Amino acid sequence: MNLRIPFHRVNWVNTSFLFVITSVGIIAGPIFLLKNSVSPLMWGLFAFYMIATGLSITLGYHRLFSHLSFKAKWPVRLATLVFGACAFENSVIHWASDHRRHHKHVDKDEDPYDISKGFFWAHIGWILFKLDAEQPIDNVKDLRRDALVRLQDKFYVWIAVLAGLVLPAAIGYIEGGAVGAWAGFLVVGALRVVLVQQCTFFINSLCHMIGNQPYSTRCSARDSWIMALVTYGEGYHNYHHEFQHDYRNGVKPWNFDPTKWSIMILEKFGLVSDLRRVPTTKIVGAEMVEAKRKAEARLAELSQQGSLSEQAVAKIEELVAQLSKNLEELEQMVTEKVETSRENVKRWRKETKELIAQLGALRPLPA
Ligand SMILES: [Zn+2]
Ligand SMILES: [Zn+2]
Repeated sequence: MNLRIPFHRVNWVNTSFLFVITSVGIIAGPIFLLKNSVSPLMWGLFAFYMIATGLSITLGYHRLFSHLSFKAKWPVRLATLVFGACAFENSVIHWASDHRRHHKHVDKDEDPYDISKGFFWAHIGWILFKLDAEQPIDNVKDLRRDALVRLQDKFYVWIAVLAGLVLPAAIGYIEGGAVGAWAGFLVVGALRVVLVQQCTFFINSLCHMIGNQPYSTRCSARDSWIMALVTYGEGYHNYHHEFQHDYRNGVKPWNFDPTKWSIMILEKFGLVSDLRRVPTTKIVGAEMVEAKRKAEARLAELSQQGSLSEQAVAKIEELVAQLSKNLEELEQMVTEKVETSRENVKRWRKETKELIAQLGALRPLPA
């Protein structure tokens, strides 16, 4: 293992801050919890900050500001800018610029958190080390038109420190004196920052490593319900990379996507509007094309390796033929602008799923 650290490329400001906050959060935080009891109010505040700052990154920084997947009135923009800063992941201008570059150059050298450089780089290494050439922030002109965004960029450090660390400590002090203040600073502040950071960093690392690729294999992004549980619903990353402007990442109604649910609730209150949705035909079409491509590739690979049971091949070929027919049916409906019925979508999905299941069970015959 190569343990040489490229010190000339270390981003000392980010590295020192991350080192201090992470050490305080994961060492001093638990020690404090072992020696002191934390009041229900402070636990409530911890839960509130976990949800508010995490969602401000996924709903605000990511789906609203980076992808413009819906429009939001100023209270939503203000709240996500303030609590987003409290996650200590830089101002939204920088965050969205990096993220847009990630989508544009995914898995390539220009991708700031390129997973082909390994888990560590994509997770945190890219923050600790400077790239050889600093990338220009030239892809967020639309965001700079928003006065709230410009203000957040200007006062980012102040907002982050005051609202993210000092405010919880002050609330703790008012309720419980010095011990309350430490609870606010160490638990609601530092420990919460570390947890939210690690959870959201997983979107750049594990969400490009764990899970399956039902919509496309063009890039490394993957769908995983397990990752969705720890990333506020961003674990359906294969769908997200294929349809980045959709406000949903977990597009199926049963997908665990609290960020999507929050956007839907805000819409009910009239605080957000113009939610962008990819038409179902396009989504099912992508799933069918991908399943067909996988089936053809797998059949070619296995038949090269050795003999396959004729029965199994015939079954797969029959399902692929059915899938091709379904795709033609779908394309015709799209061309003729005919509304696709729920029954059709259900049948197409069922037959696509069956093909994927048969593929999974396909084994070459022993020689
Ligand atoms: Zn990604
Ligand atoms: Zn994205």
